[in-house]
Amino acid sequence: MVTSKSNPGVTAKSNPGVTAKSNPGDADKQHIQEITLMIRLPVKVKNLISILQAAGFEAFAVGGCVRDSLLGREPNDWDLCTSATPDEMESVFNNFRVIETGLQHGTLTVLMDGEAFEITTYRIDGEYSDGRRPDEVTFTSKIEDDLARRDFTINAMAYNDTAGLVDPFGGQSDLACGLLRCVGEPAQRFTEDSLRILRCIRFASQLDYVTENSTADAMYECLPLLKRVAVERIRTEFDKLLCGPAASGVLREHREIIADFIPEIRPMFDLDQKNDYHIYDVWEHTLHVLQHIPADPKLRLAAFFHDIGKPSTMTVTDEDWGHFYGHEATGAGITNSVMRRLKYDNETREDVIAVIDAHKIVFQQTQRHARRCLAKLGEPRLRMLIELELADVKSQNPAFTGGRAENILAFNDLVDEVLAGQQCFSMKDLAVSGRDLMDAGIPQGPEIGRILKILLEQVIEGKLPNERQALMESIKILRQS
Ligand code: ATP
Ligand code: MG
Repeated sequence: MVTSKSNPGVTAKSNPGVTAKSNPGDADKQHIQEITLMIRLPVKVKNLISILQAAGFEAFAVGGCVRDSLLGREPNDWDLCTSATPDEMESVFNNFRVIETGLQHGTLTVLMDGEAFEITTYRIDGEYSDGRRPDEVTFTSKIEDDLARRDFTINAMAYNDTAGLVDPFGGQSDLACGLLRCVGEPAQRFTEDSLRILRCIRFASQLDYVTENSTADAMYECLPLLKRVAVERIRTEFDKLLCGPAASGVLREHREIIADFIPEIRPMFDLDQKNDYHIYDVWEHTLHVLQHIPADPKLRLAAFFHDIGKPSTMTVTDEDWGHFYGHEATGAGITNSVMRRLKYDNETREDVIAVIDAHKIVFQQTQRHARRCLAKLGEPRLRMLIELELADVKSQNPAFTGGRAENILAFNDLVDEVLAGQQCFSMKDLAVSGRDLMDAGIPQGPEIGRILKILLEQVIEGKLPNERQALMESIKILRQS
């Protein structure tokens, strides 16, 4: 929630639908000064703007960085726009290192003291015949034209220290109200580029904003067009949405938008679990787990998908009691195919499905079990699993979860102890190696692996000390068996 005290740029978010006031006066002058204080352009950005201005062009910081500054947040990056054409930019920056990859769309990347800044010529986007990108772009000399092509009012503001804030669509007022509103006619804007539907709900999740009514209606009207958008672009927005502080609420409200590109979640909706351990249906439980897990992309993905195997594995006893035998492995399989379709990188996909597959493990309060879990999953995945289990417990029927969260935390401490004590839980920690076995006369081949595996199991189980002599002794016995 933004307040006027902490954010001179915006006033408290309270009244969706209000519009900006229009009578300039002393109060507005004061307001402009406050905004100038609010948006502190980094020195390099000031320099880039000054260089363009000195060459006779206009230049502004624009989009996300202006929005974030007005919210008192640190911008991810600083994008600039200018009245200079790409050719003019190239000659203005001919003493700088530049990257020309986006040049036909008007974007030049300028490297200033090792930092990259995108500077884009003011432009008007042409027709969007494919619902993804404009067929052609036209350069323009008016900043307002450039702002008009941007998606939401809060993203359609520009700023420099000489002109102040340029806000032709009431972005500042919508920031103050916590409102997402399309620039222009919503259905037309979502038809041009249907990724904006996902951008809208990801900003709703990141900023905890509501969507203005006609924008929300148009999102659903245009939803069938989403299938034309490249999965990579969808995935990027989905990840940002999942990591937003308001992700659960947005997923609750807009589950049909998500189900449009992940229809596998639909059977979870409203599915009564029919047992006393749960007070929520499967989807609602999932949303609670998501809310309780840290905002890390892999953890949020694991939470989102962790019970996706429940609908297809559900069985109900004669006493009307629901079971979900094997839902973890089934869920890992479904998640694998969804994440492949959305082209997640292998590391993310494999970590997420390993954790979902493992969420049946019941942690036992012994170092031995900690070693076993470390051997099975490795530390990073085990820590993920611990987070998932914690969030899962917090989202179940509190009448049955007494002490479980404490047990999970105690198990986490045991994992710490095993690691701190450099205890052995993997082949590389074992006090003997394949080389030692060969020196003891075992020929190179599968026998070496077999023996090392047994030794490791025995060390993990605490049946053998991880000491060279003891291990070499038992090799003799193992060879005979
Ligand atoms: P983030 O903080 O995630 O970077 P952002 O708003 O800066 O958010 P970007 O994707 O970096 O998002 O885009 C920069 C700006 O370009 C946006 O603020 C918006 O003005 C404009 N923009 C980006 N994508 C679109 C789009 N699909 N349609 C219209 N305008 C867009
Ligand atoms: Mg950005």
